Amino acid sequence: MPEQRTGSTQRVSVLRGVGPKTETLLQRMGIETLADLFAHYPLRFVTYPELTEIGALSADDAGTPVAVCAEPVRELVRRSGRGMQLCTGTFSDGSGELSATWFHMPYLRETLRPGRRTILFGKIQPNGNRLHLQQPQLFTREQYEKLLHRPVPQYALPKGISEKTFGALMEQALSITPPISDWLPPSLRERYGLLPEDTAVREIHAPRDMENFAAARKRIVFDGFFRFLYAVRRLKETLRKEKSFYTFDARASLVEFQRYLPFSLTAAQQKVCDDFCRDFASGTVMNRLVQGDVGSGKTAVAAAALFAVCRAGYQGALMVPTEVLARQHYETLCILFAKAEPSLRLGLLTGSTRMRERRVLLEQLKRGEIDLLIGTHALLEETVVFSALALVVTDEQHRFGVLQREKLASKGQLPHVLVMSATPIPRTLAVILYGDLDNSVIDARPAGRNPIKNAVIEKKDRPKALLHIKREIAAGHQAYIVCPQVEPNPMTDLENVEEYSAALRKSFHGEITVGALHGRMKEAEKQAVMERFARGEISVLVATTVIEVGVDVPNATVMMVENAERFGLATLHQLRGRVGRGKDQAYCIFVQGKKSKDGTERLSLLQRSNDGFEIAAEDLKHRGPGELFGAVQSGELTFGLGDIYNDYSVLQLAKEAVDALAQADFILPEVHTKVIL
Ligand code: ADP
Ligand code: MG
Repeated sequence: MPEQRTGSTQRVSVLRGVGPKTETLLQRMGIETLADLFAHYPLRFVTYPELTEIGALSADDAGTPVAVCAEPVRELVRRSGRGMQLCTGTFSDGSGELSATWFHMPYLRETLRPGRRTILFGKIQPNGNRLHLQQPQLFTREQYEKLLHRPVPQYALPKGISEKTFGALMEQALSITPPISDWLPPSLRERYGLLPEDTAVREIHAPRDMENFAAARKRIVFDGFFRFLYAVRRLKETLRKEKSFYTFDARASLVEFQRYLPFSLTAAQQKVCDDFCRDFASGTVMNRLVQGDVGSGKTAVAAAALFAVCRAGYQGALMVPTEVLARQHYETLCILFAKAEPSLRLGLLTGSTRMRERRVLLEQLKRGEIDLLIGTHALLEETVVFSALALVVTDEQHRFGVLQREKLASKGQLPHVLVMSATPIPRTLAVILYGDLDNSVIDARPAGRNPIKNAVIEKKDRPKALLHIKREIAAGHQAYIVCPQVEPNPMTDLENVEEYSAALRKSFHGEITVGALHGRMKEAEKQAVMERFARGEISVLVATTVIEVGVDVPNATVMMVENAERFGLATLHQLRGRVGRGKDQAYCIFVQGKKSKDGTERLSLLQRSNDGFEIAAEDLKHRGPGELFGAVQSGELTFGLGDIYNDYSVLQLAKEAVDALAQADFILPEVHTKVIL
């Protein structure tokens, strides 16, 4: 996506309190400048409670957040052991007493002293018949007053930066930033009911009330959509102006290639091939989006196009979002190409390609000795130079920004561009988002496949589901189990990969091999696990959604998703797409952890339909506009704060604005379309 950055390019180190340590932490969050800081939007808001007298509290208040103004009755007690530093004290406000404990804050014994009142804020925990606060936050009266009577933002933050610190940095940054000059003409701002940019940026972090927040959010969501649509339009205009340097007849190579496919193309796949054959011969640069549901066979179509280009003597590039996927495509295509035309040479370039190997590869690429290069973002680097790049295919395109594609497209004479999308979106939305691209749809799946059988179950039915998985494995198949979290987290009771896989191993008594896969593992480890699963050495793979994109192991017949209510429709549909890729009957089991009306509706929609386009259309119909924090994002097609379903009406406005401004030869200032790669 084009990055949304507003305001100052000053570095965060200009802020008081940002030393090298905090700067590094912020940097890891992608925050280097004040503008980056402003683009770190709140996750949610909380309201702080008025002060309470301790005497008015009882054990019944357990779990309630309270604020009391009290002083220690005697010096705090400091203890340490097992690497932990504990500070404990009893506090009184004259009406009653409670105890409080802090970890890792030994200096509190010096700062919290009898005779000095402080505000303690935390959740009440009963401790026998006494009241207790665990790790309460501390405020002066003045600080606390400022938090009262307005929503206080909470942010996604790593360990090492507290809400309080981050909130203070944000406040400071906003206060030293001069008014931001708006790029949107006032006439349009008024027509669409949008706040000035400066107001929006300030108020999204410090709204007076939620109405105020909604207005600020609308402007920021609008900007995100606008930049995307503007960039798509610009891409189209750049390409339309140019005659193609690579014009050729691909039909003969296509016929030849199909002889070596292990199946014959479906009519829908054939139609897409016809589309790009026509484009290749047309004399202009192709700019085509291929939308196909999961499992519709997009890889074969991409391979056919790339083969035709290579046979014509040019080079092709295939770019995918993950290393796992890059390697998988590389292996599949090596086998296919070797059969069809052994003289063609393929290369694989990812972030973990070693320096020496990389150097050789890049040399060969530049001399035209590599015909097809497959890889991740690494393909976009400046050192990657082709000699005759005629076609760029991006798979699962939603992970790339339009401008990233533009950048790849700039590596030579303008190449043809083929974009594969596995996120089916309703036509109405597709027209707005991609209306400027040529569109092909693969609307049918390869024949001879049974539709996936779905089940939505509750936790208590899990043993039955596991029994089913055991039976499938006994029949020689494999299964995926997806959990929302990597490791146990005391704040939630969501399933996590670590504990889940350990428990399964135990319950299977070593008879069934269980593997674990998640995003915190090193690339090489992930790769090793994926390969073992692909070879059938692992029968059950417990994973996070890292397996969501593109992975193809046709022997896997069961997908079980734990805490399915936590995932969006698009993600669940993608996960389901990992099975049902072979001839055998496949099953998808959604385990509903917590029940909610919304969650139940979504899961029953998935149970009813296996058709991604139908699901997407229903989703658009049912999702009311204006949810401030779309708990459910529409898969990977994200625009900062905006959600194409939730914020459909704002998306329409942005489209209108782009069209109107294009008429007026408007140029978006460069700073607004910067892309971070
Ligand atoms: P996706 O569209 O999700 O990327 P893939 O290209 O990975 O789908 O294809 C899904 C599976 O279907 C693969 O195992 C592939 O070999 C198989 N496949 C693709 N096209 C056909 C076809 N025409 N007939 C039979 N199987 C096919
Ligand atoms: Mg795919």
